[in-house]
Amino acid sequence: MENHCDHIRFCQRQPGWQEGRPAQIRRKQQQNIRQHRKPGRYRIFKLFHHPILRHAINRAIHKMAAETENKPGTPGDPQPPATQERGELLTAQDGLLRTPPALREKIAIFKSGLCLVARTHAEDHDVISAIALARRLGHHIYPPQYVDLGAIRAVYAEAAEAAKPKEAAGASDTEMKKEVLDILRQASEAGTSDVHLVVERGQTMVWFRRDGERTPIIAHPWPASHGHQICRAAYAMADVADASYEQFAYQAARISTGLPEGIQAIRLQFNPVGTDGRQLVMRLLYNKQSAGDNFEDLGFFPEQIEELALLRSFAVGIVCISGPTGSGKSTTLERMMRALVKENPGDHILTVEDPPEYVIPGVVQLPVSNAHTDEQRAVAYAEAIAAAMRSDPDRMMIGEVRTKASADLAYRSALTGHAVYTTVHANDAISIIPRFLDIGIEPYLLRDPGIVRGLTAQRLIRKICPACRKKVAAGSDLPGDLAARLKKRLPDAEIYTAGPGCDKCREGFKGRTVCAEIIMPDDKILELLTTGRKMDALRYWLDELHGKDMMHYALKLIAAGLVDPVEIDRKIGRIE
Ligand SMILES: [Zn+2]
Repeated sequence: MENHCDHIRFCQRQPGWQEGRPAQIRRKQQQNIRQHRKPGRYRIFKLFHHPILRHAINRAIHKMAAETENKPGTPGDPQPPATQERGELLTAQDGLLRTPPALREKIAIFKSGLCLVARTHAEDHDVISAIALARRLGHHIYPPQYVDLGAIRAVYAEAAEAAKPKEAAGASDTEMKKEVLDILRQASEAGTSDVHLVVERGQTMVWFRRDGERTPIIAHPWPASHGHQICRAAYAMADVADASYEQFAYQAARISTGLPEGIQAIRLQFNPVGTDGRQLVMRLLYNKQSAGDNFEDLGFFPEQIEELALLRSFAVGIVCISGPTGSGKSTTLERMMRALVKENPGDHILTVEDPPEYVIPGVVQLPVSNAHTDEQRAVAYAEAIAAAMRSDPDRMMIGEVRTKASADLAYRSALTGHAVYTTVHANDAISIIPRFLDIGIEPYLLRDPGIVRGLTAQRLIRKICPACRKKVAAGSDLPGDLAARLKKRLPDAEIYTAGPGCDKCREGFKGRTVCAEIIMPDDKILELLTTGRKMDALRYWLDELHGKDMMHYALKLIAAGLVDPVEIDRKIGRIE
C-alpha cells in the first residue's frame, strides 16, 4: 500500500512500535497489559491501536491545531496586534527580558504583548516560565501564537538586522573601541600580563595583573552597562572569533591588528557570570624585547647555570620545563635558544610556538595558524610540529605540550635523533613524568635517561626593594609561626621583608627572580616515576642524587635578603 500522508506513515508504525524496545522493557509492558486485562477493557485498549482509528484521531488533532493557528486567540480573547505594530522585541539579545540564546530559539515576546512560541516547544518549562516572568515584570502578554521554529528564527534575524546600521552609525561604538584601546595602552605601559574585567551585581570592576599580583585599577566601580559595552566593543575588535557576541556563552577570541605598539596580540576569554554578568580576561602578548642573553639576570644560581649548559650539550633527547602560567618558562626557553644559537652556529633550530613570544635571531620560528577553539588549536599545533619534523631540524623548541598528539610528536622527534626543548603544566620537576603519563605517553618511552634528559620546574618570585626593605626584628613582624619555622631552617640568617615602598620601587617590590629546580634523571628515578612511585622518586632524588629542590633555593634567596619569606610560604610552599 502506498502512503498517502505523514499521518498514515506514522500510524502504520504503531502496531510494531514495541519491536525495537529491549526485551526486558517489552516483557514489563506486556505484563502491565495482562494485569489490566478485564472483559471489555482490553478490547477498547486494542481498538485505540487500530491503524484506521488512530489515523482518524491524529487527523482530527492536526486539523484542530491548524485552525487555532490561523485564528489567533479564541473569539472571547483580546486580539493581539497585527505583526506590523508588534513593537520592540523584548526577548532580543539586548532586550529588556534578558533571554539566554537557547530560549531565543523557542519564543519571541514583543512590547505590544504579541508572543510567538515554537509549536514544538509549547509545553517547555522554560518557555512557560519566560511568559510568566514577563507578566510578573508588568508586561501585558497575549496568549501565545504557535508558529514554526523557522518563523522564530526569522524574527530574531530581522531584529539583529535592524539593530546593525544603528550601531554602525552611532559614535558610541567607535568611542567604546577607543576606550578598550586606552585600557590596553595603560596596561602595556604598566607591564601588565592580564586585564580582568568583571560585570556583576550591577557594577563593573577592572584589575591589572602585574608581576603576578592582581590589583584593582579603578577606585570606584563603573556601572554594569559600561562594562557590557566594553566587552561588546572588545569582541567587535577581534579578528578571530565566533560569528556573534553572546552574552550568556563562553567565548574565546583574539585581536591581532590595530593594537598599541609593543603588543602583538590579545587573547580574549569571555565568561558568563551569575544571571546577567560577564567576565572578560584579556591576555596581552607582547613583542618581547629580550633583556639579555644570560641566565644570571633571570636569577638562576651558578650551579644551575652549569646544569643548563650540560643539558644544551646533548644532541639528542628532551628537556622539559614546567611551572604554572606566568612562571617565566618561555623566557627561560628563549634564553636556552639564544645560547644554543651561540654555541652551535651551524645548527638548524626550529621553534613551534602559539604565538612566538620573542624574536630570536638565528632561529626559524614557526607560528601556529589562527585557531579559536581548543580542538582547532590542538590540531593546528600538531600540524606545525609535524611540519617542523619534516623540515630537517637539528634542534626543536616546542612552546608547550598540552595534548597527546603534541607530546607524541615531541617524543618521536627525540627518538629520531633530535634535541627537543619544551614546557608542560606541572607543579614541580618530579611531577613532569606523571603529567606525561596522564597525557597518554607510553611509560616505556619515558624510561630512557638517554631520551629524558632534563626535568626542570620554576616560579617567579618578586624581589624586595633593597632601598626600603625591613629587617625582621626578633620574629615579631612575621605572620603566625613563620618566624619560628625560619629560625629552624635559617638560624643565623638576617631576614628581610618588603618595605612600605619608596620612589625606587612599587609597594616595596622591584623586579622578579627565578626560583628553579633541575632534575637530571637516571634509570632508577625514571623507573620509580613510570611505575607510580612519585614520593619514592622524590626521596631518591633528594637523598641519593643530592638533588636541590625549589625550597632549597628559596631559602638561599631569603638568606640573601632578596625575597620576602611570606611570599615564599605562599608561592613555593610552607617553609618547614
Ligand atoms: Zn623601595
